[in-house]
Amino acid sequence: MSSVAENITAEVAVVGGGPAGLVSAIALKAAGINAVLIAPQAENDQRTTALLASSVTALATLGCWEACRPRAAPLASLRIVDDTRRLLRAPEVAFTAAEIGLDAFGYNIENRHLIAALTARAAELRLPRIESAARAASSDASGVTINFTGGMARALLAIGADGQRSLCRAAAGIGTRRNAYPQTALTLNLAHTRSHHDTATEFHTENGPFTLVPLPGRRSSLVCVLDPTRAETLAAISDAELSAEVERRSHSVLGKIGVEPGRGLFPLAVETADAFARSRIALVGEAAHVVPPIGAQGLNLGLRDAATLAELIADVRGQNLDIGSPGVLARYDAARRADATSRRIAIDLLNRSLLMDFLPVHGVRGLSLYLVDRIGPLRRALMREGVNPAASQPRLMRGEMV
Ligand SMILES: Cc1cc2nc3c(=O)[nH]c(=O)nc-3n(C[C@H](O)[C@H](O)[C@H](O)COP(=O)(O)OP(=O)(O)OC[C@H]3O[C@@H](n4cnc5c(N)ncnc54)[C@H](O)[C@@H]3O)c2cc1C
Repeated sequence: MSSVAENITAEVAVVGGGPAGLVSAIALKAAGINAVLIAPQAENDQRTTALLASSVTALATLGCWEACRPRAAPLASLRIVDDTRRLLRAPEVAFTAAEIGLDAFGYNIENRHLIAALTARAAELRLPRIESAARAASSDASGVTINFTGGMARALLAIGADGQRSLCRAAAGIGTRRNAYPQTALTLNLAHTRSHHDTATEFHTENGPFTLVPLPGRRSSLVCVLDPTRAETLAAISDAELSAEVERRSHSVLGKIGVEPGRGLFPLAVETADAFARSRIALVGEAAHVVPPIGAQGLNLGLRDAATLAELIADVRGQNLDIGSPGVLARYDAARRADATSRRIAIDLLNRSLLMDFLPVHGVRGLSLYLVDRIGPLRRALMREGVNPAASQPRLMRGEMV
């Protein structure tokens, strides 16, 4: 990746080098669009991401998956266990990718490996990168200017991939709607003595899900949703105590547990931008929407943003039209809103149904899972929708280049 500075011009300036920004920039560069990435080196990200099959297809199409594959574990099945102590408990439900003709619903990978693979691919494609943070963004009728330490970039369109506290979003005057939940996710990776058999296991508890997702070998990642005080307490105990606690909570399904160094605490919230694009600035990833880490939706949504936007830019540019015009931005907003909204509502419903101490709600959740367990076509439709959302299939997710 060449490092450039001073004043540069490009068709598109991508701000932010997390996975959504890197994939946006790679997709544009691969489509022959003159793009520049403005991004300091990513901070150490200890999270893992379950990439659904359509995201994996997009990464493979962009030439990024080969480097990820040895670091990623397939998710061949998903088990949901009602671990609440409530009167109306749901039956245990297992979903298997083979039922819908797939080897895996997707793959789980540590973010640091994903980002390293994307960074290497961007370098291979000779994507220009400015390794400093954007300090300001401003737009006018003919373009957008991004200022960074040591220079500025001028482009027809800026892509704000700069995360939850997006400078680009603020510069475009776009507000957000945010709801915080009374929950915090404690995250860590762990080693275990029993095989996970490529199966992710989600225990539903009164405080939220406790989810173990396979990593290669006898390792898994954990997202444990708790009330904030309990999460902080657990995050502070010794490795031995935490290993024992995780083993207890997982009912020893993975045998003896050894937690690895590095624990994350993420307060749960849902946040959606009022508009996904305005004033020559389009938002992707968490700059556009944040969803709680339940059901592995966040980055999968972000990659669909990146793929949809790159496709739109390539099409509009092919017609020699202005890629940053209000009409193009409105098309992008319309293309992404339904997908983002439906995922947010589904995650919110599931999460609230666990938190509520209201018997009929538990009855409905239990009945829903019972029906899903018993009715084959419903199960398969749900699984297909989870892996390949019908409403949002940009070309990259279908294995076609932008
Ligand atoms: C515990 C947890 C588990 C999760 N698990 C999953 C999962 O299994 N599957 C899934 O799909 N999603 C998952 N997610 C969500 C996923 O992690 C996020 O959706 C994803 O990381 C967002 O990527 P992003 O590129 O939009 O933002 P980020 O990863 O936040 O990247 C933003 C980047 O922008 C940079 N930046 C910020 N400001 C500037 C600036 N002014 N100039 C330049 N650069 C800037 C930052 O340094 C950063 O590198 C999980 C989230 C959490 C919290």
